[in-house]
Amino acid sequence: MLISEVLKKKGSTVATVAPDMTIDHVVAALAEHGVGALVVSVDGNSVDGIISERDVVRALAVDGAATLTRTAGDLMTAEVVTCSRDATIEQLMAEMTERRFRHVPVTENGRLIGIVSIGDVVNARVHNLEIATERLTNYISGY
Ligand code: AMP
Repeated sequence: MLISEVLKKKGSTVATVAPDMTIDHVVAALAEHGVGALVVSVDGNSVDGIISERDVVRALAVDGAATLTRTAGDLMTAEVVTCSRDATIEQLMAEMTERRFRHVPVTENGRLIGIVSIGDVVNARVHNLEIATERLTNYISGY
């Protein structure tokens, strides 16, 4: 299954924050959008970094409440692994497992066109397996 099919279902809206947004606002944005990570972008289109709740928790463990006045740019991961709409669910699953992250922004010509989370990947895999099981069951039952 291609990532383009996942995006067809979930849409191409991606929650972004500017690099200079302070962490207290980043935390509010994570809660408001109900997501675990935000793409850091200067213009809402480019992928300049990614900041996840894990980055915030790690910084809180080290610096405590002072973390809240730092910026998304301070805490983000700048080397972001992205994929194209032609990538497969299986490729993304392998990448997420190997590199231990749960979000992959989708880009086209350097512009953000979506984001896929591990939840999307698992849902798509389960859906595919259910279809395959139903087909096999029908085949075996002679339908
Ligand atoms: P996550 O599991 O997505 O909450 O992220 C775990 C760690 O990986 C955090 O430090 C994130 O900033 C980083 N991270 C998340 N997604 C990506 C990605 N696509 N490319 C590079 N780093 C990422």
